[in-house]
Amino acid sequence: KQRLEGKRVLVTAAGQGIGRASALAMAAEGAQVFATDVNAEALATLTGVETFALDALSDDSVTEGVARANPDVLFNCAGFVHHGSILDATDDELDFALDLNVRSMLRTIRAALPAMLERGTGSIINMSSACSNVIGAPNRFIYGTTKAAVIGLTKSVAVDYMSQGIRCNCICPGTVDSPSWQDRVDQLGKELGSKEAALKQFVERQPMGRVATAEEIAALVVYLASDESAFTTGHPHIIDGGWSGQ
Ligand code: NAD
Repeated sequence: KQRLEGKRVLVTAAGQGIGRASALAMAAEGAQVFATDVNAEALATLTGVETFALDALSDDSVTEGVARANPDVLFNCAGFVHHGSILDATDDELDFALDLNVRSMLRTIRAALPAMLERGTGSIINMSSACSNVIGAPNRFIYGTTKAAVIGLTKSVAVDYMSQGIRCNCICPGTVDSPSWQDRVDQLGKELGSKEAALKQFVERQPMGRVATAEEIAALVVYLASDESAFTTGHPHIIDGGWSGQ
């Protein structure tokens, strides 16, 4: 038997990076996967999963998408990384990050929970980060603030529904190779004068001496989606190459 047989899964931000790798990994384990993203072009390159456009910033889009997928497993992956300290941050940037990194999860969970409660089962997986209340990272003020909020949101949902068959966990990756991470490396490379120097900075903070692949994070998502993880809820699951583990 495959690990996710019979499960309907909704993934946000599945067009690239961790969301994409997770959608494919869950499909490979037998789940019926609904891979969604605001970027329809990126979705068009996916095979073996159902795809449709879903904008995690829009109430209507989320309501429609969740009704269509009717998920047993919800993977809230959408998020954005702002660069800078508290003195660099603008209110608009903070509002945007709170909307995409945090409020998007309120939207999807509110929409998906009633049917999960009716069935008496469900697994919600939220994307946090090691950069949160787990560990502070330089120039990640807005990002770390919002990703810490995801942990509070996760625990709150978990505690309210744990006796009704619903689990809610979040994952806290360290640095992961993804298209947007490559952009961040290029950007820092311009500031430091070389891409090599930028890569060195990202890699050195992780004691294992490398960044993760999206597939390594997807393996944790599969576990949390499956019934193998039936005894864990309300937790940040840290997967960070030893960054915060020393
Ligand atoms: P990425 O940043 O390269 O891709 C993000 C995807 O999100 C894109 O496909 C984009 O179209 C989609 N998206 C943007 N706005 C959206 C919206 N409004 N609705 C739906 N989708 C939208 O992918 P990544 O780097 O794997 O990041 C995915 C998640 O993992 C994010 O929440 C990020 O904060 C988190 N994360 C990433 C890392 C890392 O180092 N890459 C580490 C920890 C956590």
